[in-house]
Amino acid sequence: MRQVTSTADVVRAVREAVVEGTRLAVTSGRHCLEGFVSDPAVRALVDVSPMKHVYYDAKMRAVAVEAGATVGETFRALAETWEVVIPLGECPGIGMGGHVAGGAFGFLCRQLGLAADYLHAVEVVTVDDDGRANAHIATREPSDPHNDLWWAHTGGGGGNFGVVTRYWFRSPGASGHDPATPYRLCPPR
Ligand SMILES: Cc1cc2nc3c(=O)[nH]c(=O)nc-3n(C[C@H](O)[C@H](O)[C@H](O)COP(=O)(O)OP(=O)(O)OC[C@H]3O[C@@H](n4cnc5c(N)ncnc54)[C@H](O)[C@@H]3O)c2cc1C
Repeated sequence: MRQVTSTADVVRAVREAVVEGTRLAVTSGRHCLEGFVSDPAVRALVDVSPMKHVYYDAKMRAVAVEAGATVGETFRALAETWEVVIPLGECPGIGMGGHVAGGAFGFLCRQLGLAADYLHAVEVVTVDDDGRANAHIATREPSDPHNDLWWAHTGGGGGNFGVVTRYWFRSPGASGHDPATPYRLCPPR
């Protein structure tokens, strides 16, 4: 098992697994309901749980959450720093890495929808047809060439398309241009 602390660490770990031809799995919060992580066929495990940074990314005009943050840690950081919320799941120990890619529903979903509705962008380490591992940032902008990779992280579940290192969240209707409300993920009711 490799514990990683940065996107560059993840790229290195994935490259090594490709070179060695080992089956790779990734874990964030260890709340898997299937055997995807604990499958005996898995020979290399990338653990992103040390990556827990939650911060406002001015360039992206969205709040960035690293994949190793738990649901509880994310709720707390959003509330204490900006007094906002994303409608995440009900169990504080769930890892954001596996949670958001599956859509993520919780107590607030009837009022606010899914966490995936607020997903503005995702950073994913993927392996291309030639076996090269690289990090990509995919956004919900229709003009983004990686837009389909973003879409693949809005509720598909049942597996993964790469190693998620970071998510960015912003309300679908917000531009983030207004400096007075850059953190308003969920409008007050
Ligand atoms: C007690 C419990 C309560 C739950 N409550 C809710 C709920 O209220 N709402 C809800 O929507 N879901 C809920 N879930 C389901 C949970 O969201 C999923 O099981 C989720 O995949 C767990 O993510 P994890 O990172 O904690 O788990 P892990 O065991 O680490 O991983 C689960 C899956 O996600 C993949 N994965 C993990 N991290 C990454 C990453 N960084 N990049 C790519 N793939 C990754 C793994 O490879 C594996 O396939 C609950 C699960 C449990 C066990």
